[in-house]
Amino acid sequence: MKLNKKQAEDRIKEFFKNLDNKKPEDIIKIKRLAMHNKIKLGALRKKFCKKCYSVFNEKNSQIRINNGFRAVKCLKCGFASRWKIKHLSRTAVLEHIQKC
Ligand SMILES: [Zn+2]
Repeated sequence: MKLNKKQAEDRIKEFFKNLDNKKPEDIIKIKRLAMHNKIKLGALRKKFCKKCYSVFNEKNSQIRINNGFRAVKCLKCGFASRWKIKHLSRTAVLEHIQKC
């Protein structure tokens, strides 16, 4: 099935709205769709492991804040993704963790 860019964007947004029960294969498919259409996933990339494509949840990930970095460790494959936190106070950092 061929999708235009708008349709692909919608499908990606829809996909990330509900990540429960999503398998790594689903993530790979959606990532491929995004790449084909040159759609940037941006913040959405933080929702899954870069290496094994598992969707992060409380059980399979460990979040640490260190020197302005938020490190999410995937407990499935052990890979740690690090994201820079910009200009956030300590309270803002805590709020940030709760939101994600
Ligand atoms: Zn992983």
